[in-house]
Amino acid sequence: MTQKTALITGAARGIGLATTKLMLDRGWQVAMLDRDAEELARASDGLEGAAPFVFDVSIPSDVDKAIPAILERFGRLDAVVNNAGVAEFGPIEQTDFAMWRRVMDTNLDGVFLVSQATLPALKETRGAIVNIASISGLRASTLRVAYGTSKAAVIQLTKQQAAELGEYGIRSNCVCPGPVRTKLAMAVHSQEIIDAYHDAIPLNRYGSELEIAEVIAFLCSEQASYVTGQVIASDGGFESTGVGLP
Ligand code: NAD
Repeated sequence: MTQKTALITGAARGIGLATTKLMLDRGWQVAMLDRDAEELARASDGLEGAAPFVFDVSIPSDVDKAIPAILERFGRLDAVVNNAGVAEFGPIEQTDFAMWRRVMDTNLDGVFLVSQATLPALKETRGAIVNIASISGLRASTLRVAYGTSKAAVIQLTKQQAAELGEYGIRSNCVCPGPVRTKLAMAVHSQEIIDAYHDAIPLNRYGSELEIAEVIAFLCSEQASYVTGQVIASDGGFESTGVGLP
């Protein structure tokens, strides 16, 4: 049987690395893309069926080089997980344009560029796109003008992709993780935010990388063959409560 191949961006650590390992366990091959060369080399070392690709999803010329390199190595693409992301928090008046752009460049432009560049390959396999947004794209807060807006745009981009690409058999879905103790989150979650999340989340805890990866892997799989255009929160029930983001 032909082995399916997934491209996972931001695969050097956190949710992307957990998803890589889970999909390898399930028999996929994985193209691990990240802009952090050292961390990607460490993460991919010894992972059979995976190969590292050092590129930046926010740079169009990088994406133009990355996709042919991945196709040369694996020959096909059955799923694209747009997971690479950055987080910078601040109120509107303290969000300068450079910070706004840094967040949009990776979180929004990166998803657009990688999805667009992989379309010809996904058309051939009737493949799947899974975009990683956030509960911050579903609920507003005082600190997330750039991050939350970028993630809300990713949710809409997912729906646009589902509407337009269904005719090619391509599915596009979006996962909105709640808080997970990754490097990204721990850099912006103050103790006040951590405590508030514990109170606001019905399951009263942060999620794990694996709990998010399970949802992503499902959406990539044949088991989700009739699921497209969906926004799935894996957030301990936070979204169902109506409580504001801490
Ligand atoms: P992380 O910082 O652990 O991992 C992100 C990875 O993306 C890193 O390896 C980083 O080098 C890579 N990356 C960043 N910008 C890149 C770029 N331009 N090109 C290529 N690689 C790039 O973060 P994580 O928490 O695992 O985040 C994964 C995704 O999940 C992100 O999109 C994030 O916004 C989303 N998310 C995370 C949480 C959370 O609490 N951790 C919550 C909601 C959503």
